[in-house]
Amino acid sequence: MAAHLPTISPMQSTQNSHSQLLLLLVSLLLLFPGESHGDVNRLLLDQLNQVGLVNLLEQATRPNVPQDLSNYDFIVVGAGAAGSSLAARLSENPQWSVALIEAGGVENIAHLTPVVAGYLQQTASNWGYKSVPQKLSCHGMNNNECALPRGKVLGGTSSINYMIYNRGNRRDFDGWAAAGNPGWSYEEVLPYFLRSENAQLQGLENSPYHNHSGPLSVEYVRFRSKLVDAFVEASVESGLPRTDYNGESQFGVSYVQATTLNGRRHSAYSAYIKPVRDFRPNLQIFTFSRVTRILIDEGTKTAYGVEFHYKNKAYTFKARREVIISAGTFNSPQLLMLSGIGPEDNLKAIGIPLIKALPVGKKMYDHMCHFGPTFVTNTTGQTTFTSRVTAAEVLSYLLAGNPATKLSSIGGVEALAFLKTQRSKLPQDWPDIELIMVTGSLASDEGTGLKLGANFKDEIYDRMYRELADAEQDHFTLLVMQFHPKSIGRLWLRDRNPLSWPMIDPKYFIAEEDVEFLLDGIKASLRIIQMPAMQRIGARLLKRTVPGCESFKFASDDYWRCSIRTLSYTLHHQVATCRMGPETDPTTVVNHQLKVHGMRRLRVVDTSVIPVPPTAHTNAAAFMIGEKAADMIRSEWS
Ligand SMILES: Cc1cc2nc3c(=O)[nH]c(=O)nc-3n(C[C@H](O)[C@H](O)[C@H](O)COP(=O)(O)OP(=O)(O)OC[C@H]3O[C@@H](n4cnc5c(N)ncnc54)[C@H](O)[C@@H]3O)c2cc1C
Repeated sequence: MAAHLPTISPMQSTQNSHSQLLLLLVSLLLLFPGESHGDVNRLLLDQLNQVGLVNLLEQATRPNVPQDLSNYDFIVVGAGAAGSSLAARLSENPQWSVALIEAGGVENIAHLTPVVAGYLQQTASNWGYKSVPQKLSCHGMNNNECALPRGKVLGGTSSINYMIYNRGNRRDFDGWAAAGNPGWSYEEVLPYFLRSENAQLQGLENSPYHNHSGPLSVEYVRFRSKLVDAFVEASVESGLPRTDYNGESQFGVSYVQATTLNGRRHSAYSAYIKPVRDFRPNLQIFTFSRVTRILIDEGTKTAYGVEFHYKNKAYTFKARREVIISAGTFNSPQLLMLSGIGPEDNLKAIGIPLIKALPVGKKMYDHMCHFGPTFVTNTTGQTTFTSRVTAAEVLSYLLAGNPATKLSSIGGVEALAFLKTQRSKLPQDWPDIELIMVTGSLASDEGTGLKLGANFKDEIYDRMYRELADAEQDHFTLLVMQFHPKSIGRLWLRDRNPLSWPMIDPKYFIAEEDVEFLLDGIKASLRIIQMPAMQRIGARLLKRTVPGCESFKFASDDYWRCSIRTLSYTLHHQVATCRMGPETDPTTVVNHQLKVHGMRRLRVVDTSVIPVPPTAHTNAAAFMIGEKAADMIRSEWS
């Protein structure tokens, strides 16, 4: 029997990385005894690079130390998906100097290894935000606070996310354009999705919807369980077509497409920054540098620089051309407000002088899920128990570079199905529900990762999932996600301290109808479980009552409604806090060129500008926005 590796707790993860690396080094020397020193060095470097140690070394040895009052053509705040792609593209012009300022550090082996995605939320690479206590959702979370993770590292949230690659529906973007945003229709944004993509998707080599020469690698997850094969087959038996959900039609079921390269996470940093930073002296990257304010000439309402903290000291950088805020959906609105751009009442209440009144943070949408249903099966060894990855699998993945081991599983996500409920009033080709097939649950990591990351109460784990972990019982979960919620939240500042958390109230399920959509989605998932392919693996609903829902008949509609409000689980697609739209629309903050209304030389370039939730996870859109912004800026300044 294969040896079990010990569970990786968040505190241990760095030590574990180090001991794995030591193991790796020793193994390399044993593996290549006959090689010359030069060859061994090269092999070592290759392997170290692959496992991320080079990134760690770089963090310690090569930080860019800010020089106060430096001047750059462009200052990009935030090295996330949008900010990294934008900075990389702008710095292609050697005449332009670009400063990329990031609050976090550099990725390491944990970021690169997809199976441990869930653990990253308990590291310093997560800003660690939580919502204000929710009345109508997150009843299963401590203090009713939903966890709202965000990446704080070069690569931003693309370095801690679940790596699902998904662009959205044609109608999403056509809707953006129709709302007064010329240039953002599907036909106009597709080239930017393609520009970023380097697809290695078997069977889609000749698809016009995929490109093979962009920086961002997209591949099918190479590790597949038998459970996912049964799910895909059963979905087809239930009437869903097989589809490329990034292609002609989203409807149907598909193995998941992921932003990985040979089974390793391909983040914005790995894809866009790392390959070029050594060759571009005009691209200066500042890590552990937290921007606290945009410098604005109040008379002309022109942004001319930023103030930031690095190692407890304040610095100022000046921008000759533009300041671009790519700090993500929570921090971009926060920075605008700290700089005097935001709702008059909020800024006045906390004593920030108003420069421009705009509805920053007044709207926030998200994609809320139900964490379940979970199904048990008669199979063995098919569930991704991350804490039980074997030493053989680690060695095969790290040393032999074998992407088809459990370590390349993107946190257990293996397939997606896009559906339409009968309740939906949308046109026929526009899905409203997604089923996310995960070969696991809170039991996958024995309560050491997902549970803590999402802030689930202990009793949820103890009463529903612990037994599955103890028995190593095979199971899978179908997360049900609603694409077009009616519930709208908001974000505001509690005080003028730039280091305080913004207050975030997502108001999940304030619109009753959103619960009904999820209920329909749960019923759709139960229908799929009735199909022959599922029956062959003995799939059946996990009969564990959700704590707090005991008064309802198990699996009745009211039981599921209670479960939806208890096991409420966001997939972290918050958008619209700096909404894009024409200046005449009082709900918008930036125009179609992503310029802040009424301001000069100031843009917001990230997912906060997305006006309404797309029929997709939001990472691919962030890259598209970065690419498109780069083109707009280039054409304006060239
Ligand atoms: C846990 C999780 C899982 C997810 N899974 C998926 C998935 O599988 N597929 C998918 O499509 N989407 C997923 N998403 C969503 C998706 O990853 C994000 O929407 C997307 O990456 C956001 O990109 P962005 O450029 O808008 O912002 P970010 O990538 O968040 O970048 C913002 C950057 O700005 C930096 N920053 C913020 N404030 C400051 C400051 N004051 N000074 C300096 N730097 C600052 C941050 O540290 C960060 O690096 C997930 C999100 C989370 C949290």
